[in-house]
Amino acid sequence: MKTVTTHYINGKLVESHGKETLDLVRPTDKQVIGRVTLGDEDDTRRAVQAAKEAFTSFSKTTVEQRGQYLQQLYEAFATRINDNAAIMVEEYGGSYQFSKASATRAAQSFLQAKKHLSEVPFQKTAGTATVSLEPVGVAGLITPWNASTSFVCSKVAAALAAGCTVVCKPSELSAMQTQLAMECFDAAGLPPGVVNIVNGRGDVVGAEITRNPDVAKISFTGSTVVGKSIMRDATATLKRVTLELGGKSPHIILDDADLSKAVPFALSAGFLNNGQACIAGTRLLVPESRLDEVKRLIKEAIQAMKVGNPADPDTVLGPIVTEKQYNRVESYIRKGIEEGAEILFGGEGAPQGLEAGYFVMPTVFVNVTNDMTIAREEIFGPVLCIISYKTEAEAIAIANDSAYGLQAYVSTSDTDRGKKVANQIVAGRVMINSFYDEPSAPFGGFKQSGIGREFGVYGIQAYLETKATFGD
Ligand code: NAD
Repeated sequence: MKTVTTHYINGKLVESHGKETLDLVRPTDKQVIGRVTLGDEDDTRRAVQAAKEAFTSFSKTTVEQRGQYLQQLYEAFATRINDNAAIMVEEYGGSYQFSKASATRAAQSFLQAKKHLSEVPFQKTAGTATVSLEPVGVAGLITPWNASTSFVCSKVAAALAAGCTVVCKPSELSAMQTQLAMECFDAAGLPPGVVNIVNGRGDVVGAEITRNPDVAKISFTGSTVVGKSIMRDATATLKRVTLELGGKSPHIILDDADLSKAVPFALSAGFLNNGQACIAGTRLLVPESRLDEVKRLIKEAIQAMKVGNPADPDTVLGPIVTEKQYNRVESYIRKGIEEGAEILFGGEGAPQGLEAGYFVMPTVFVNVTNDMTIAREEIFGPVLCIISYKTEAEAIAIANDSAYGLQAYVSTSDTDRGKKVANQIVAGRVMINSFYDEPSAPFGGFKQSGIGREFGVYGIQAYLETKATFGD
């Protein structure tokens, strides 16, 4: 069994002051495979102090120096991509395909930040003033479990590019992935205190980061409910906040769509990352005229989809992360049935032969109306809701009738028509006909999907304050 007992503070792996422990359970077979010692307020304050001290000189580094540090970070993570992918499969249950892509993305995020650093207008003029963009201060980064190292790296990369130092609290459920990330940060050879990582619970370590007066900015990815509480608590010290929260993304299949492409796209977007993706396209809007065809093709495609051991390279759907999340997904499936939706495929309980792990049957509901709980709330599992519509205008209205606005999808044979529809959808990103993983483009949500944008030059600017200086 693997034990994780350290945090990464001031350039060293240091033993935890906090003594509480948490078992790490492998979702594929529910075996305890590790134990993490959780940090406390004391660990967190030490990390903030280290970041505060490092900020004095790191905030004055040149773009070239920070580019060099980002390059070192890239190299440290790039050499461990396979290790990172393997531990994500083991600890989280991510499919090998997804985990490999996620670990690659994590390493690449440092190169992306390096590239975009040269595009940030650190200095310009406005009338008689010189306007400069300055790092906001110590950044607190709080991340979820569903692509842990990728979230950690993309936030650290943007913050460091801006000249901020960081205290990061990854999900306590991802401690083995965090351990590996700490080793990579250590190997990168940055000045002590620039990157600090504390393992721990949200209501202990996360709460201390949120209220600590020496933290100037919070970048949080996680649930909408926790995001709101962080925003509330951050007002006491008026921290800047970036919130990347939940979603209930619509996918409009237009009546001219080529279903041989639209259906596989709908399934891959809907079941992305075992259904545990904030950007999953979980409301599938289908024209009434093509409903029967879509139903038939969806059934065929899911039957051909491999659900099971996430380590197998051809597995599409692995398990759900924990028992708590498993029960939550199952309760939504029950709720859908109670509210009158009809099961096209899947349903309650584990797929046959996979009862040993937290496996959920890939489930598709039909006869869903947009006011049902399963159409309104984020389920965070492989559950797709098919909602039929009569006209394009109705489809757009349903798509926008949501508390969320993170991502949306459109399938059509006419890209210009797709773009016209996309222009009317209230969401941070709209994908037409295919999944685009574009790290230069802004990422973030409208409405209750969050505040602010990450990635590319937008992500770096989120860690900068604007200052005007006058005088000849
Ligand atoms: P969560 O909100 O429970 O936890 C996220 C992080 O916040 C964890 O590190 C947790 O320990 C910490 N936390 C919990 N309570 C806290 C508190 N009071 N103060 C400070 N920190 C606290 O979310 P989760 O269950 O880890 O992840 C799933 C959620 O994340 C889903 O709702 C999903 O949509 C969302 N998510 C959003 C994005 C995005 O980019 N928009 C990406 C992935 C996941």
